[in-house]
Amino acid sequence: MIRAIGFLIVLAGLSALSVWFADNPGQVSLVWQGYVIETSAAVLVMGIVMIAIAAAVLYRLWVALKQAPGKIARNRRDAKTRRGYQALTRGIVAVAAGDAVEAKAQAGRADGLLREPPLTMLLSAQAAQLDGDEAAAETFFTEMLDRPDMEFLGLRGLLGQAVKRNDQTAALKLVRRASRLQPKSDWVTRTLFDQEARAGNWAKADAALNSALANKMLPEAEAVGHKAVLALLQSVDAEKDGNPVEAMKLAKLAHGEDTSLVPAACQYSRLLTGMGKRSKASGVIETTWARQPHPDLAAAYWHTKDEEDALARMKHAETLAAKNSGDDASRLLLAGAAIEAGLWGVARENLDDLPVTQAQCRLMAALCEGEKDDKAAHEWLVRAAIAEPDATWVCSDCGNLTDAWSALCGKCGNFNSFDWQRPSSIPGIAAPQHETVPLLGADTVIDGDGPEQ
Ligand SMILES: [Zn+2]
Repeated sequence: MIRAIGFLIVLAGLSALSVWFADNPGQVSLVWQGYVIETSAAVLVMGIVMIAIAAAVLYRLWVALKQAPGKIARNRRDAKTRRGYQALTRGIVAVAAGDAVEAKAQAGRADGLLREPPLTMLLSAQAAQLDGDEAAAETFFTEMLDRPDMEFLGLRGLLGQAVKRNDQTAALKLVRRASRLQPKSDWVTRTLFDQEARAGNWAKADAALNSALANKMLPEAEAVGHKAVLALLQSVDAEKDGNPVEAMKLAKLAHGEDTSLVPAACQYSRLLTGMGKRSKASGVIETTWARQPHPDLAAAYWHTKDEEDALARMKHAETLAAKNSGDDASRLLLAGAAIEAGLWGVARENLDDLPVTQAQCRLMAALCEGEKDDKAAHEWLVRAAIAEPDATWVCSDCGNLTDAWSALCGKCGNFNSFDWQRPSSIPGIAAPQHETVPLLGADTVIDGDGPEQ
């Protein structure tokens, strides 16, 4: 619209100029080299304008001819780049579709057409991985390490490979380097925590966990559970290193972070008992029994009481069971203590309507034996062999079962993955398999030899 108005204004101006020249033709006389040219002023102006236009056209033509070779080369380069990006896009789509042959072909094409190693090397590595050629992928990822703009990508690729082949030493080295490059990366911090924990570097794992927490990369509840376990493990190490003050401080921290963590309560209670603080030690066990009753807690509780008299132990059992009276474990605890004290009626009262499990059957057998009914005792022992298994530590990631809690699963290596539960409640788990790495020494795991086991 604005251009149309401008054109009309120019047209009007030219018309006015033409009219003015028509009204004032004037006379121009030019003498040059013996020639005389006589004409009107309008014709002279017209002539000058025509010469200017012709000069402008010739100049443009000259410039165009001069620039032609460069332009042709640029156009060819642009077309090559376009084809390169097309190949790159097709390669990425092929990787996403899982088409290894196409991905590899397009990666090679893109590599030849583009001068963009950050893009084509990654595609080439992914295509090689898709093709199952881990060695070629590793070569590409390693080459990336030499380029500052691609170092992180290379590290990520190599780390993925190291984790896949379960090479913990390489994985830890790579993730530490990646963490120096991208300390705020969610993925890097989580992997760093995981690898430090798998390597048993509790303090470094704790530092990574704190970083993840500060950057809100982990749910608070999950982080608190991990922190409690890490504090417990550091307490055990401090105790082994002959530093009881630090061991006590860390055990208290572990119990404070997660009062349902059975091994932390056992460690803290044991250290307190060792210092003669028996009442406080009992309190620790009672707190945890209220949240997570466990045979190890009962054993630790007897340790805090140091009581030989069976009737006195029954009283203590009642105190502990009252902290979680609705749980079957409390009833088993009472039944076991009652059998020891010869209180058959109390024992039967607690056992009668409990689910038939191995522990319940064994206690029923002990009760019948106490009542001098050997036949019934034998029957209960037979039933115990085929009854529902009792709760045990179950790895929530791989289903590995173990009697003694461990920070790392001996089967999948995952950190803090054990839950206390009945194996029969987990689909696909039929027979117990015991594979664990005892990270807590035998002196620090209090065996579940309480009355209910
Ligand atoms: Zn596992």
